[in-house]
Amino acid sequence: MAATVTEYCTNHSNDVSDDMKELWDWTVDEFEDSDKMSSPLQGATMQFLAQLLGVKRVLEIGCYSGYSALAWYESTKQTKAEIVTLELDPKMIRASQRTIEKYKIGDRVHLIQGPAQDSIQKLTGTFDLVFVDANKEGYEGYVKAILDKKLLSPSGLIMCDNVFARGMTISTEANPHLLEKVRPYWTECGKALRRFNTFCKSDPRIDTILMPVYDGVTFIKWKQ
Ligand code: SAM
Repeated sequence: MAATVTEYCTNHSNDVSDDMKELWDWTVDEFEDSDKMSSPLQGATMQFLAQLLGVKRVLEIGCYSGYSALAWYESTKQTKAEIVTLELDPKMIRASQRTIEKYKIGDRVHLIQGPAQDSIQKLTGTFDLVFVDANKEGYEGYVKAILDKKLLSPSGLIMCDNVFARGMTISTEANPHLLEKVRPYWTECGKALRRFNTFCKSDPRIDTILMPVYDGVTFIKWKQ
């Protein structure tokens, strides 16, 4: 049912570009864990949001093969936004570098290699949009650091992906269809994300909305 709904929504939403389609296909062919990549519908959503908000600087935590970085790049041609993207895994750093070169997006997409927690500490200035999409046990630390360092612009938006952890955040019984080989991984993610969701709800500096879309998406902004 979920796959049918996603297909219907994708078919009735903005299309992504041919470059994004090509990169998506390449990533699926190249990497066994390509389900880490955003879906085309998510890509179209990101582009919609980036344009709606007129973002001038984007921080992305978790680059993978560069699919979302390409989405941000394409959708910010008018504002010429800088896209800072963080990645740890050497294999995915190579894939991201390939994406940056192949699609000629290196003028505005800046890949920072290494653990995101360290990279965030070195960042300066503010970001209008922060996409949190890396290791799930890191989410709380990343968002805390972004808030503590005031890296989020006054009208900025933080978007955190996969906060349901395939349902495991809500209950370990929530998803009977989850494959046994990935269940321990997502169970651990679920524990970390439960703590993260509690943090978001209780931090007095922020407003937070957890949306039941995709694998759960949390939107955060400064409280006004
Ligand atoms: N944003 C990508 C997209 O939409 O296609 C998907 C990102 S994928 C879900 C998560 C990525 O975060 C992986 O490539 C992984 O190597 C990276 N990652 C995991 N832990 C990290 C860390 N501590 N610091 C930086 N990157 C990390």
